[in-house]
Amino acid sequence: MSTTHPRSPHDQQPGSCDVADGASLRSMVHGAIATIAVLLLLSAAAMSLLTSFLHRTSRLIDDSVEGVRLAMELQQRMTQYNVLSNLTLASAEAGLVRPRDNSPALEAIVAGADRRLVEVREYVSSPEEESLLREVEQRMHDYFAARTALLERRAPPGEAIQASSPLLDAAMTSLQDFVDKNRRQAQAAMRRAASWDSTADVLSIGVALLAAIATVGSLVALERCVHAPLAALKRVIDRFARGDKAARAQVTGPSELRSIAAVFNGMADRLIYQEANQLAFIAGVAHDLRNPLTALRFAVGSFDPSGPAPTAERVRRANDLVGRQVDRMERLVGDLLDATRIHAGRLELRLEACDLRELAREAAELFQPLSVAHEITVEGAAGPVVARCDPARVAQVLNNLISNAIKYSPQGGAIAISVAEDGGRASVTVADQGIGVEPEEIERIFEPFRRADTTRDLVPGVGLGLWVARRIADAHGGSLEVKSAPGRGSVFRLVLPLAEGAAPASSPSAQAASIPRS
Ligand code: ADP
Repeated sequence: MSTTHPRSPHDQQPGSCDVADGASLRSMVHGAIATIAVLLLLSAAAMSLLTSFLHRTSRLIDDSVEGVRLAMELQQRMTQYNVLSNLTLASAEAGLVRPRDNSPALEAIVAGADRRLVEVREYVSSPEEESLLREVEQRMHDYFAARTALLERRAPPGEAIQASSPLLDAAMTSLQDFVDKNRRQAQAAMRRAASWDSTADVLSIGVALLAAIATVGSLVALERCVHAPLAALKRVIDRFARGDKAARAQVTGPSELRSIAAVFNGMADRLIYQEANQLAFIAGVAHDLRNPLTALRFAVGSFDPSGPAPTAERVRRANDLVGRQVDRMERLVGDLLDATRIHAGRLELRLEACDLRELAREAAELFQPLSVAHEITVEGAAGPVVARCDPARVAQVLNNLISNAIKYSPQGGAIAISVAEDGGRASVTVADQGIGVEPEEIERIFEPFRRADTTRDLVPGVGLGLWVARRIADAHGGSLEVKSAPGRGSVFRLVLPLAEGAAPASSPSAQAASIPRS
């Protein structure tokens, strides 16, 4: 469609949508959803990692605290044991008690220490701590063993203190190392937790910001790329509906909206084109009716009752004139009726076997008397070419083709009608030496109300004949095509199916049959 309209300034959309060519609304929505989903997944994964890290850290801190508590309890028990064993030795030396009397209490302290040592093992969290604990155990046992031996042989308190002090100091130092180690461990874990806590704060603020940006970005993109173009399209459609024929949508934005805008523009162009065609059609019909009416008025005028009686020759010419004009009007009315029938899908065919050669000859005979400037010949197979067709409709097509050949060969010339049987099909070609058709108009002349620019002002017509003719050919299961060159003439070819069981034409050799001129 070549109709173009100046773009109205109102077509511009507010805020432009910078999407890549071919990007679709679907891909944009998918992209936005995927971005938000990835952000949510990342934040969920970060949260889960952080939670498990904090869980592990808090366990480590708990273990360290428990380790410190138990180690301090062990220190207490060591001190308790030391004091009680010293007292026992001193009392034994003074003869106040026997060392055996305090044995249950001392053994209870050792048993309690042993239980604490077993408990503390559950809270050990590193190999270094493990080896420290082994050292503690060893030194405590060394101390208890030495003390037990001193008690058993009732060593004097001075000697006992001197002998066991280094062992007690060593065990207490190991326990202190164990306490320090756990304390350091707990402090380091707390520092790490604090640092992860601030990292998590930064991360969650970052993810929340990104999610907010992605959401706002998606809303802005939706507004610019979907809502604004749709609103602009609606405005354009409203303007067009109110009668602004130049209103066209801006083809922009995602591919779906681009194609809606393009479809609307194409539809608007077609409507304008059809409107122009309908106006041309009405003008053509008026023109085609006025000419015969003028001729009829002239013919009626020549029979003035107040004047002398017309001669026989004048009556004959007036009669011919009236007949031709009535034929012309009949054809026009017939085309209009056919057009409405085709539109309503009510084109009925009365199919029968008919000889195309005969139909072509009749059509040529009908038209030859109408033009002395043209020589109409019928060539083709020697025998009948029997097609399955509606003879009245095929005659209508041939009449249209021959009358066009005459109309569009204003200089006169040969009009060759050729009937043939070819590849199981019957065909009739009508060739003229007239003005021809421009290549870009070739297919358009079969559209309703379409007339080539070169012929519009040359010959009257409404541009329905070829459209009706092609529909008739199609309805038969055949076709109507044209080959043409401007200034060199046109060849229209009607192809129809052969009648079943029809005898083939006796000879394909061309046999020319001239229609005598009147
Ligand atoms: P009409 O003749 O009433 O205009 P048609 O549908 O028969 O309507 O033809 C449509 C157009 O095709 C014509 O207006 C003319 O431009 C072109 N045309 C048809 N036949 C010929 C021909 N034999 N030579 C050149 N142009 C033709």
